[in-house]
Amino acid sequence: MKICRTIEELTSAIEEVKQQGKTIGLVPTMGALHEGHKSLFKRARAENDVFVSSVFVNPIQFNNKEDFEKYPRDEQKDLSILEECGCDIAFVPTAEEVYKQEPKEFNFGKLEQVMEGKQRPGHFSGVANIVSRLFLWTRADKGYFGEKDYQQIAIIKDMIRQENINIEIIACPIYRDEDGLATSSRNQRLSPEARKIAPKIHQILEKSFLQRNSLSLSQIKRFVEDEFKKVKDFDLEYFLIVDDTTLQPIHTKKPEHGVIGCVAVWLDGVRLIDIQRYY
Ligand code: AMP
Repeated sequence: MKICRTIEELTSAIEEVKQQGKTIGLVPTMGALHEGHKSLFKRARAENDVFVSSVFVNPIQFNNKEDFEKYPRDEQKDLSILEECGCDIAFVPTAEEVYKQEPKEFNFGKLEQVMEGKQRPGHFSGVANIVSRLFLWTRADKGYFGEKDYQQIAIIKDMIRQENINIEIIACPIYRDEDGLATSSRNQRLSPEARKIAPKIHQILEKSFLQRNSLSLSQIKRFVEDEFKKVKDFDLEYFLIVDDTTLQPIHTKKPEHGVIGCVAVWLDGVRLIDIQRYY
């Protein structure tokens, strides 16, 4: 595995690959790699000649300084996981390197006025800055993203349209621990007691899924909110039922559109997110 720390090292490694006519799959990450990341690596490895990944905790997508500082970092461990997963090129830059050129302001309109975008102002512009740069530097044919960050995928699809970047975005299903908790770098920050409570997020969502034929979407919303209230350690930030493409809240299902529920909840000082597809 080649480790690149500068844009120049990366772009010259990519040039070599491109000259050989090989396809490139990219998985951008913020490190603290876990099984969820590995599920993306597996696909990128299998579906491309060359598998590139990046490990970069992107400062400009954090609107909370403490969250940025507390974000788990372990470069050596991440690099050995990437190597194990068959990564060909690992890009591990500093913030100075990535932002030699000032970040620009992205605007995603309604797509970012709900859920994560609404709760975390500037977050998606920060994500779009790093992801667009990674797409340009790696010249990847395919970019792999997890559905755990569902809104992020919609934003990235819009970003490549705005920037005219030719890449296929591959949305990968959420990887869960055996007890149903979506794996996340933030899970490491949960106390052992909180870790036992956390799977209730998925359990509540699954329970609501089973009732989708007898309840209206508004009733499902209320049901989920009530279930979260019953667990005293949870502090629900939002639960929204949205159109799976426009991400706008809906109360009645339209036949041609999918419907998903998106949740953000605080537990033990850690903010966790998850989704549930209803239709
Ligand atoms: P992160 O390092 O948290 O920025 O995540 C890097 C990529 O891995 C993003 O596309 C995430 O959506 C994806 N990812 C993180 N956790 C999971 C998971 N449990 N299942 C599937 N994809 C995930």
